Amino acid sequence: MIKTKGYAAQTPTTDLAPWNFERREVGPHDVQLKILFCGVCHSDLHQIKNDWFDGIFPMVPGHEIVGKVVKVGGHVKKFKVDDLAAVGCMVDSCQVCVNCKAGLEQYCLEGNTQTYNSEDRSGVPTYGGYSDTIVVREEFVLRVPSSLPLAATAPLLCAGITTYSPLRHWKVGKGHKLAVLGLGGLGHMGVKFGVAFGAEVTVLSTSPSKEKPAKALGAHHFVVTTDKAQVKAARGSFDFILDTVSAEHDMDLYLSLLKTDGTIMCVGAPPDPYSIRPFSLIGARKSIGGSGIGGIPETQQMLDFCAKHNIVSDIEIIGIKDITKAYERMLKGDVRYRFVIDMATL
Ligand code: NAP
Ligand code: ZN
Repeated sequence: MIKTKGYAAQTPTTDLAPWNFERREVGPHDVQLKILFCGVCHSDLHQIKNDWFDGIFPMVPGHEIVGKVVKVGGHVKKFKVDDLAAVGCMVDSCQVCVNCKAGLEQYCLEGNTQTYNSEDRSGVPTYGGYSDTIVVREEFVLRVPSSLPLAATAPLLCAGITTYSPLRHWKVGKGHKLAVLGLGGLGHMGVKFGVAFGAEVTVLSTSPSKEKPAKALGAHHFVVTTDKAQVKAARGSFDFILDTVSAEHDMDLYLSLLKTDGTIMCVGAPPDPYSIRPFSLIGARKSIGGSGIGGIPETQQMLDFCAKHNIVSDIEIIGIKDITKAYERMLKGDVRYRFVIDMATL
């Protein structure tokens, strides 16, 4: 077994603290990474707080992982020692169902194995990227183009692919009016991709102070959602809304901002169910859809797209000791736009 240093929550009510554990030895199809950086996703906070379901504790969060390959199994073809590599939200899936065959491993009919807070196929808990090393089967390891700055690439593995995938699925681009709801880790990537795909992008935000920064990201317009006059002026104006909000919010209000035939693409995962009035949908043939991360081929495609178009995340690098403070600041929307942990501080 491989001795591993990490940071874990021992229970849903305790702060993260150092915790040592073991990972499996590198098997013939496995790649071992030394983790260099790991992004801090709002899903990490949801999960250590048991917001969604009872988690597996101790829990080592982290699913925006970049690092260097330190060991490969005998059958590994795609990677060699010293390569840069990355791991996102999944580390395994059945590989044979119709969704896996289509490169949609996130929708594996047997359920994919999440990078942490999950059990692998032999029933062993998985532990995430707030740690010094990880062992993952080759199929779930991504290549990192060498032109990308490493720390700012980490958030692409979740915030990046989670916004890239629905925008591609719904073919958002030139001629579309796209609104990005919530300007956090996911939202700011949604703005960058929306602009790169040619859409006219509006940020819908509860934070008036984010107007200038939103425009600096490339957004064309900014609407403060707590300002009634601004919201009224935006009624019926968007083809798509990419909803990245992490907490309860008024879906009927946001549906009213869509054009006829408009769609809300939900990627945010608030703990409580949405409440939606049927007339908000049937009044103008509107739709609500959801999207989870992205499959492995599309994640690689997204990383390559980012390398080609010079897209990375806007980040603030922290030491692992500051993780609890970082969660508090993330909850207040006080980060532009993603914390990334420098794993050398572990
Ligand atoms: P984040 O950085 O905290 O950003 C969330 C943003 O939502 C905030 O910056 C804020 O933006 C807005 N917001 C927060 N509370 C709000 C409220 N009560 N009403 C309206 N707006 C509010 O979080 P994140 O890391 O981007 O994650 C966002 C959500 O996506 C989380 O629920 C996360 O679990 C989920 N997620 C889903 C997937 C997936 O596969 N679908 C993948 C990753 C994450 P403003 O200040 O601009 O209003
Ligand atoms: Zn995430």
